[in-house]
Amino acid sequence: MNNSMHLEFLSISENESFARAAVAAFAAQLDPTMDELDDIKTSVSEAVTNAIVHGYGDAVGTVHISCVLSGNVITVTVSDRGRGIEDVSLARTPLFTGAKGSERSGLGFTVMETFMDSIEVLSTPGEGTIVTMWKRISTLPQAACV
Ligand code: ATP
Ligand code: MG
Repeated sequence: MNNSMHLEFLSISENESFARAAVAAFAAQLDPTMDELDDIKTSVSEAVTNAIVHGYGDAVGTVHISCVLSGNVITVTVSDRGRGIEDVSLARTPLFTGAKGSERSGLGFTVMETFMDSIEVLSTPGEGTIVTMWKRISTLPQAACV
């Protein structure tokens, strides 16, 4: 049976750790390894930080997270109704950052691509951005009962 949850919170940086912990707690029911859980938490952090920093900037808007468990696959969607991205493939290029003169390193999408099985980025300038990420959780053999 599928299971799902939805979160909505304001785009303030204090909510980033809440979001990653909430997704991790929900994902825990698939019994992921610590490494898999860390991969999911890191990827959620990157997507949520992007929504807050790039999507809304100095404004405060709403960030949505939708999380679906289907078999041993987790799907996480992070969306904002912020500024949007002009050129998604350029934005996904490693080391590209649209935040000139800041401490951003342009590696957020690369991190998501590396730590999750696949990601999809849909964005419309002036309307917002939807980042969907998939990861299959390993099914470890049960310890033998003696
Ligand atoms: P880092 O994540 O390493 O701190 P970064 O955020 O600049 O740096 P990415 O996360 O890879 O790097 O994002 C690349 C660029 O894509 C951003 O600099 C920004 O211009 C654009 N971008 C990413 N997410 C969004 C978003 N939700 N809304 C608007 N623009 C975005
Ligand atoms: Mg980023």
